[in-house]
Amino acid sequence: MGTAAGTAWICRTCGNQYPPTPTPPKECRICVDDRQYVPAGGQEWTSLQQLAGERRRTEWAELEPGLFQLTIHPSIGIGHRGLLVRTPGGGILWDPPGYLDASAEAFVRERGGLAGLARSHPHLCGVLAEWSARFPDADGAGAPMWLPRRDAAWVLRPGDAVRWWDDRQEVAPGVTLIRCGGHFAGSAVLHLADAADGRGALLVGDTMMVLAGNRRVSFMRSYPMLLPLPERYLDALLAALEGVRYDRIYGAWAGLVVPEGAREVVARSAQLYRSWLTGAARDPDQD
Ligand SMILES: [Zn+2]
Ligand SMILES: [Zn+2]
Repeated sequence: MGTAAGTAWICRTCGNQYPPTPTPPKECRICVDDRQYVPAGGQEWTSLQQLAGERRRTEWAELEPGLFQLTIHPSIGIGHRGLLVRTPGGGILWDPPGYLDASAEAFVRERGGLAGLARSHPHLCGVLAEWSARFPDADGAGAPMWLPRRDAAWVLRPGDAVRWWDDRQEVAPGVTLIRCGGHFAGSAVLHLADAADGRGALLVGDTMMVLAGNRRVSFMRSYPMLLPLPERYLDALLAALEGVRYDRIYGAWAGLVVPEGAREVVARSAQLYRSWLTGAARDPDQD
């Protein structure tokens, strides 16, 4: 939003919002990194006000009891979805996209407000700090933004509402952040113990990518730039999820879900990925 201090500029390519400044930043730190890209036409900035003027709208859908999906139409940035987990103490908003409007805010308010926000990794923070500021807690600080210490250097809009966490953090009863690393050192998943009819679910962002067909996942250093994830980071990611009870995975984009058997899907997908990464697999037409 525009303030006396300027505009909180939003990168059109990744949808991440920066602290208010009179003129846009020189570059987007997220997009100049080797995991993202600056469009051929150059860096482009926008703002919530400008996006609203482009007739953007927000849409919600209930994916299962107590879990809602937030999408933006037309999409902004990477085009991912936000996910709202209802808990008795208020909602936890995961991976908010790069736009919000009064109707999205009202939707959350009518469902008990926000007890906190979290994200899978720096690409999918969108207007996280904006959401936080609109749902102040009793002390007047914004709703808690749970951010992993390992990605501290990537936090674009820090503030009093930031709550640092390390490897695991319960943010509401049965709702737990787990740091997996890989794509980013602080890449995380959110474990919902009661989801999927009590079998447990993971919200993964692109800590792992749910693939078309909804029966496979993959693991990458960069998805848009197609850089593979080294084996030692894959090992660490799998180790972080050992012993975690889940049967379903919700990916970062609308429609991407492994509805059941997700633990087996991850194990099989990791085995296939590893076999091609290391060259243990072979193509009989070539060798
Ligand atoms: Zn960007
Ligand atoms: Zn990413």
